[in-house]
Amino acid sequence: MGGVGSGNWYRWDKKTTTDQVKRIDIRFMKKQGLLKPNTTGSLNWSVRGEPSGSIRYTCYTDYLQLSFRHRNRGDDWQSVEQYIPFDRTVCHFGGERLWFLCPNCSKRVGLLYGVGKLFLCRHCYQLPYSSQNSGYMDNLVEQKDKLGERIFEYFEYGEGWGKKKGMHWKTFERLYARYEQLDYAINYQITKRGDLV
Ligand SMILES: [Zn+2]
Repeated sequence: MGGVGSGNWYRWDKKTTTDQVKRIDIRFMKKQGLLKPNTTGSLNWSVRGEPSGSIRYTCYTDYLQLSFRHRNRGDDWQSVEQYIPFDRTVCHFGGERLWFLCPNCSKRVGLLYGVGKLFLCRHCYQLPYSSQNSGYMDNLVEQKDKLGERIFEYFEYGEGWGKKKGMHWKTFERLYARYEQLDYAINYQITKRGDLV
C-alpha cells in the first residue's frame, strides 16, 4: 500500500476546501448498508444538482476496492484501481466501529477525499476547511480534541476509541454524547456542500 511518498507533495491549492471535493464517508456507507462483504455498487457525487463524479466499488471483508477513471488536466483518462483497507475498533457499547486506513499514511480515518488521482485522508491532502467557517470550525475541532483526549483511552488524529480507564461509565456516556454532537457538527460543516448523493 502507499507508494506516494510522505504525502506532502499532495499539497493542494489553498482555495480547495473539503466542501468542494469528492469524499467517501465510511459511516454514511455503513448506515446505508453499502458495506456488506462481496457487494458492489457505485458512489455518485453532485455539485448543485449536476453530476460531478462517479466511482464503482466492491466491498470485501477487509478492504474496499475502488474502480474509477481519472484524468489530469490535459491528459487522457486512465483507469484507477484503489484498495482501501478496513480497520475495526471496539465500541464502548460493544460491537465494533469500522474505519478506513488511509492508503498513503495508514491513519485510521472515517473520511477519504478524492482531490487528486487517489482517495486519501485529509491529512495527506492537507485540506483546509471551508474558510468562511474556519474560526467556528477550529473552535469545534479544538473542543472535540480536548474532550476526546479526556474521555478515550486511545485518541489519535482526531479519532478516539475505548473508554478512559478509571472513568465512570455514566460520566463517559454523558461526555460521549457531547463528543458525538461536536463530531456531527464538524462533519456537517465539512459536508453541507458537494455531499454524497
Ligand atoms: Zn493519509
